[in-house]
Amino acid sequence: MPHNKGATLFKLVIMIACCTIFLPNQAKSAAAQVTTKNYQEITPKATIDQFRIHGIKAFDSNEQDILRQWLAAGVNATRQSLGIYPRPLELYVYLKKSNQPVPWAHTRRDNHESIHFYVDARFSLDKFINDWTIYHEIAHLAIPFVGEEYAWFSEGFASYMQYQIMAQSGILTLPIEQAYANKIGPQLSLYQGEQSAASIATQLMKKRNYPAAYWGGAWFFVLAERQLQSKHNISLVHVISQYQQAGRREDDNIQALLTSLDKLINDSLFSDLLKQFEQSPSSSLYPANID
Ligand SMILES: [Zn+2]
Repeated sequence: MPHNKGATLFKLVIMIACCTIFLPNQAKSAAAQVTTKNYQEITPKATIDQFRIHGIKAFDSNEQDILRQWLAAGVNATRQSLGIYPRPLELYVYLKKSNQPVPWAHTRRDNHESIHFYVDARFSLDKFINDWTIYHEIAHLAIPFVGEEYAWFSEGFASYMQYQIMAQSGILTLPIEQAYANKIGPQLSLYQGEQSAASIATQLMKKRNYPAAYWGGAWFFVLAERQLQSKHNISLVHVISQYQQAGRREDDNIQALLTSLDKLINDSLFSDLLKQFEQSPSSSLYPANID
């Protein structure tokens, strides 16, 4: 039923968009100062042929220059961690005066998957590169649309990955464990109940408590990472980068995604973890504190 799907997609777009409204100031405290020069030095092998920019003509030539360099840097940093995506990224930019470089952004999931950035190009290139938004939004497209009921999973994934990408690109100033603890720690008390973690996160999303839903959802990926490292000695970003060429184009729901990820590691780790998030008491999965 395409019209229903369309309505679902629209709602998801709204929810995804909200993350950039509610979280930027917290996230920005974790970003280091990085110059364009040293950014290029830390991504020497990346190239810039995997994306298309739309809407750039609305900006003056100096602003176009900044935006092009920023978008290239964001694509390069993301693919360095998550691999080369099977389709070129369609990146749209729009003018939006603000007190920050990227006040608003969202992904669109239709036949033409795309990312839409509202930007104030009066900010410097460094300010753009240090902003977490682009890494979060591009990370969303490393996995398929998993349905509105799994928005906590999708946002948890992008929130978890934004710091992986920033850390591997040398942009994150804090140790990554500390960056996660700062975000996830304040949400833990909400996940101490008998209900499943998935139902708690879904309710938090409905109540528009986005930091709690997103960073509570990110805990799924912290646990997946720990199990991948201890059982298989590999990282989550490594599995995701392999997934770009092994299922990303075909999968269109969460079960298909998790089955593909499990196949890559010859284990049922991802499917089992989702089962726990949907069936076990949340308090059995979330600690009371993160040290
Ligand atoms: Zn998001």
